[in-house]
Amino acid sequence: MSRVAVVTGGASGIGLGVAQRCAADGHRVAIVDLRGAKSAAEELTLGGATALAVEVDVSDRQSVRAGFDRIRTELGPIGILVTSAGIESFTPVLDITDEGWDRIIAVNLTGTFSCVQAALPDMLAAGWGRIVTISSSSAQSGAPAMAHYVASKGGVIGLTKALAVELARSGITVNTIPPSLVDTPMARNAEAAGDFPGVDVVGPMVPTGRAGTPADIAAACSYLCSDEASYVTGQVIGVNGGMYI
Ligand code: NAD
Repeated sequence: MSRVAVVTGGASGIGLGVAQRCAADGHRVAIVDLRGAKSAAEELTLGGATALAVEVDVSDRQSVRAGFDRIRTELGPIGILVTSAGIESFTPVLDITDEGWDRIIAVNLTGTFSCVQAALPDMLAAGWGRIVTISSSSAQSGAPAMAHYVASKGGVIGLTKALAVELARSGITVNTIPPSLVDTPMARNAEAAGDFPGVDVVGPMVPTGRAGTPADIAAACSYLCSDEASYVTGQVIGVNGGMYI
């Protein structure tokens, strides 16, 4: 069944892979992103999908509300939400500034919450909804020089579990995928900045012998957003090649 699928961070990396998969699954797709939404949506449209670009800063609640209202008006009620918008930073704990801490929490955690809150009324009205948050395996394992990032992603996992229980009788499932190493612009930027040894160095250390791809994450997401997954909620679904860092 075709639904309206909103993908935050949908212009790049994991979000883009999820948006492409949602389109392939026959959904109408809203790409919500700070930048690059237009070209990503155009590409989906060229492939025959219905896609809308919505420029939103997920850390700005007004921007989120306006963006989601536009999606509702132009595509219809929202049935699926995947929250992939996120930022990372590698900073030793004593060097994390107030601003650095606040920004990571505002985008990764509060941004996820605001988007869920903006999408939920449609799902509650329909008695059907699928929410998938993208967290991080670093919140399961810990990671050095990422206290703010890991805390934000641990918050996303807790938020996911709380919502799953609260919404369980409303036909709405809420699950999280915590990726480990996925070859995306975020990972390549961290590599270029010297923040970690690099995708091609760490990839072979993953038990499956390679970094993940956005399509790997999108495939799990597709299942979680399907009708068949109605009994799966509140789960942390690792798609990580067996690696937890
Ligand atoms: P990416 O940088 O390729 O994509 C992230 C997207 O989010 C970008 O398009 C960016 O513009 C958007 N974005 C950032 N801040 C935003 C804001 N304030 N409002 C709206 N959009 C915003 O990164 P990715 O690797 O695809 O990461 C996607 C998610 O997966 C992130 O939440 C990241 O923390 C998580 N993750 C990634 C990896 C990995 O190895 N790549 C591992 C674990 C978790």
